[in-house]
Amino acid sequence: MRYSGFKVIKEALTGHKGWKPAWRDPVPQAHYDIIIIGGGGHGLATAYYLAKEFGGKKIAVLEKGWIGGGNVGRNTTIVRSNYLLDGNEPFYEMSLKLWEGLEQDFNYNAMVSQRGILNLIHSDAQRDAFTRRGNAMILNGADAEMLTTGQILDRYPFLNVDNARFPIKGGLAQHRGGTVRHDAVAWGYARGADIRGVDIIQNCEVTGFRIENGKAIGVETSRGYIGANKIGCAVAGSSSRLMSKVDMQLPMESHVLQAFVSEGLKPVIPGVITFGAGHFYCSQSDKGGLVFGGDLDGYNSYAQRGNMPVVEDVCESGMALMPMLGRARLLRMWGGVMDMSMDGSPIIDKTHIDGLYFNGGWCYGGFKATPASGYCFAHLLARDMPHPNATAFRFDRFSRGLMIDEKGMGNQPNLH
Ligand SMILES: Cc1cc2nc3c(=O)[nH]c(=O)nc-3n(C[C@H](O)[C@H](O)[C@H](O)COP(=O)(O)OP(=O)(O)OC[C@H]3O[C@@H](n4cnc5c(N)ncnc54)[C@H](O)[C@@H]3O)c2cc1C
Repeated sequence: MRYSGFKVIKEALTGHKGWKPAWRDPVPQAHYDIIIIGGGGHGLATAYYLAKEFGGKKIAVLEKGWIGGGNVGRNTTIVRSNYLLDGNEPFYEMSLKLWEGLEQDFNYNAMVSQRGILNLIHSDAQRDAFTRRGNAMILNGADAEMLTTGQILDRYPFLNVDNARFPIKGGLAQHRGGTVRHDAVAWGYARGADIRGVDIIQNCEVTGFRIENGKAIGVETSRGYIGANKIGCAVAGSSSRLMSKVDMQLPMESHVLQAFVSEGLKPVIPGVITFGAGHFYCSQSDKGGLVFGGDLDGYNSYAQRGNMPVVEDVCESGMALMPMLGRARLLRMWGGVMDMSMDGSPIIDKTHIDGLYFNGGWCYGGFKATPASGYCFAHLLARDMPHPNATAFRFDRFSRGLMIDEKGMGNQPNLH
């Protein structure tokens, strides 16, 4: 069933009796060509592009909970491609281009909104760093513009550029960045994959792998054994736990990241703003809530909830930038488990076990990567070769000294 404006009107006039479930609830089969573990954004996008671009295979996505219950439905919805380093920027720009055509591609309203992202600058050194970043973006075919305080005030008149705790000296804008309704991305990819024959199996936890003669031949699950020719792991914050079942120790730690939403307000913030003198970022949802977040909680955890000191820290940063924030009431807050890699960049690679592939290390920037990650992981699974835009995301970059350390923080995952 295709969704369209005509269909919405027809259903409105006929009592909404014609809608069908957006995806099936299939019984797991005994064997698949490819199994994807993890029904988050990355797992579902992988299955979608496998079926759409590299067709002809029997594919299943195994999800231990429900579609959209992980980080894909917990993030602050920001998409952008404002990266500095060569290993990253072409990949994230590919992702932004895929976002731009995504809704037409999978025929689902994911509320892709290119309302722009603005990184504020508070010192001369920061201006130099952001100018360099903007130039790197332009060299890689992305858009970037350095804004003066006057240009910033035209769009964000509530910002205090000269008499705040940290005066604003300018900003780096990416006008094609913005927000996307996060859980609709999971639903859109799930529906698009299902239409192309992918079995999306919820409430199916992978508890182990079956390996024979150095080759992965299937997975043990809470719903029994399922065989496969190839297995792709895309479980984000649970990566280290899953891969420990084949004795792999990943260059990763799991940390909690919290997000916050205020009560609904009249339109006040037209785009996404990031504070340059503290870790704070904010946008406004279409329902009016201010959506914001900041630092990780700072300790390793698999809990999907955070602690109070970070709430205070995030709100302090927010108040320093936008004192009016103190007048808004907080409506909701939650946490997600982040797969923090040692250099802050992801991994899309084969493992040492034949037929077992890995996708993870997305830190707290993996939502924007969803389309390109799915496409590149599908490419690797189908062709056994990395996609040209993901060749740097290898396991061995850590042993070969080829880290993609965007923030220059070294191997301290809590700082990336
Ligand atoms: C508060 C917060 C704010 C964020 N903000 C942004 C942002 O603004 N922009 C941005 O780009 N990124 C952001 N991120 C990061 C982004 O959400 C993640 O990097 C990305 O969603 C991770 O990929 P995923 O969608 O596949 O993960 P998930 O949705 O977590 O998918 C992994 C799935 O694997 C399943 N799973 C785990 N173990 C098993 C198992 N053994 N068997 C079967 N299934 C299993 C889980 O249940 C889960 O559904 C944010 C994250 C958080 C928590």
